[in-house]
Amino acid sequence: MNKKKENKKKNKKLGWLWMISLILFVILLAGMVLLYRNSKEKEEEKTLAYTDLIKEMSFGNIEKVEMTVGSTTIKVKQKNVEEEKTAIIPNTESFVGLVQEKVAEGNEIELVQKPKNILAQIPSFIISFLPTLIMLALFIMIFKMQGLGEKGKVYDDTERKTKIKFEDVAGLDEEKAELVEIVEFLKRPEKFTKMGAKIPKGVLLYGKPGTGKTLIAKAIAGEAGVPFISMSGSEFIEMFAGLGASRVRKLFEKARKLSPCIVFIDEIDAIGSRRTSNSGAETENNQTLNQLLVEMDGFSSEETIIVLAATNRPEMLDKALLRPGRFDRQITIPAPDLKGRLAILKIHAQDKRIAETVNLERIAEDTAGFTGAELANILNEAAIIATKNEHEGIEEEDIEEAVKKVTVGIEKRTRVYSDKDKKLTAYHEAGHAVVSRYLPTQTNVKEVSIIPRGVAGGYTMYKSDEDKYYISKTEMQEKLIALLGGRAAEKLVLDDISTGASNDIEVATKIARDMVTKYGMSDTLGPIDFQGKEPYEMQLFGEDIGDKIGQEVKTLIDTAYNDAQILLKQHRDKLDEIAVALLEKEKINEEDFKRFFNE
Ligand code: ADP
Ligand code: MG
Ligand code: ZN
Repeated sequence: MNKKKENKKKNKKLGWLWMISLILFVILLAGMVLLYRNSKEKEEEKTLAYTDLIKEMSFGNIEKVEMTVGSTTIKVKQKNVEEEKTAIIPNTESFVGLVQEKVAEGNEIELVQKPKNILAQIPSFIISFLPTLIMLALFIMIFKMQGLGEKGKVYDDTERKTKIKFEDVAGLDEEKAELVEIVEFLKRPEKFTKMGAKIPKGVLLYGKPGTGKTLIAKAIAGEAGVPFISMSGSEFIEMFAGLGASRVRKLFEKARKLSPCIVFIDEIDAIGSRRTSNSGAETENNQTLNQLLVEMDGFSSEETIIVLAATNRPEMLDKALLRPGRFDRQITIPAPDLKGRLAILKIHAQDKRIAETVNLERIAEDTAGFTGAELANILNEAAIIATKNEHEGIEEEDIEEAVKKVTVGIEKRTRVYSDKDKKLTAYHEAGHAVVSRYLPTQTNVKEVSIIPRGVAGGYTMYKSDEDKYYISKTEMQEKLIALLGGRAAEKLVLDDISTGASNDIEVATKIARDMVTKYGMSDTLGPIDFQGKEPYEMQLFGEDIGDKIGQEVKTLIDTAYNDAQILLKQHRDKLDEIAVALLEKEKINEEDFKRFFNE
């Protein structure tokens, strides 16, 4: 929550800066135009065409000519005319000759020659460059604000200490218990150093996005009452080369001044990924990473600085980061379990008007696999939906709609589609639903719909799994069958296939590939990790290992597709009934669905 605020603040500042520079630019432009027009008008009044000048001269009407060395712009004073005028002459030498000729003829013309006036040229020089200069200055300012200069964000005095406490972090009880120690270190470092204990320098938080890593890092700072300086790994490497390292240096300079404090480096994988090749970006990363290591090795335990870093790709990290005295503590932040989800929902329900009838426990049961950020988002969406529906408070249906919105996208009832498309979608979705019904490991169908949502033409929603730590091979195989049930139904009934199955195919392929290359579930290839290996590493397993993997993946998919078709042929009556019902009602819920199977 706080981070959003910060960002908003930063954005606001940036927005203002852009506004001001835009306004300045417009004013400047307007000024220039005015100036130009004014001078043009005046020029018109005050200039004398060359031909007129020659004429006037032959009439003897010119009294005085003033020339500047090296310039073809001259000043002339006519008889009987008060004002001096300017004229542009094609060639100074021949003009001087002309004047001398006239003088020789008896005309009284005063010819004055002036030295080059450098000062006189400065104003126009400045004026023409001023806008560029100002824009340049502004750009530099904006860049600075975006963080080329000072980068470590320290909250200003009122905000420097985050107000987030452990109680704001729901679930994660064990993780919090582990981190309490860090809070103690920060609060009373001398207690530990007296005992001869070395204070840990770095803690790495592993976990997928939205699981609350930033939140918990802030909570540590909040609990200890110390400043929280944060920076994201990707910020280190954007923009210019060589800057990453200097930013790291600045970050730690600031940390030293504010110690005891917490330095939080988000997305540390962006700078700390394994040092392998020698490409440009890599070298740049290395400098940044090396600087980080130098800094971490550099500060003594008297300077109580604890570096917290977060990543969702621990396998990418350079091993040097994990050595003792650096990030030697690692804590995994998991996606919340049922208890955790309920706790998170309760926290985020606090500032919302939720109807008494809402059963948050049921919502928690229905949202297995959701992260804290997603749950917070769902409640927020639900509040928006409830407002639109003009409900007194957020009702359960609002929350359910929010879950669907977050997972499949918003309902698009107005999208027109042909009867043929409708039939195809109906059979496709009925295919998924019927197939899953006959697969023991697959969860029950919760809703089948042919109302388009997001990019999907229709969808089949399943009941949420209970929290599981492991997924069996059988379960994965059956998941493949369920995923391909849509395509199988299209083929079986319409004897043609459509693009509507593309997402199913994508997901199925990924599962099949993981089964073979990550989970070692292929009988022929055995329990070997093939994932993310460099080609030379793969060669260890034989020249044609790529072919073999491909073959295994294909076999898994082919088998699943075939099984789906067999199931659908066996239960063709159910498939037809459900497809017809979908065409009629557009949406079938759990109870309706069970009725087709006399449950
Ligand atoms: P991460 O840094 O792991 O990507 P964040 O800490 O930024 O995740 O979490 C984003 C938001 O999700 C938080 O600001 C908070 O609103 C919500 N959130 C995530 N996990 C929790 C949790 N355990 N308890 C309460 N809110 C949470
Ligand atoms: Mg984060
Ligand atoms: Zn599908």
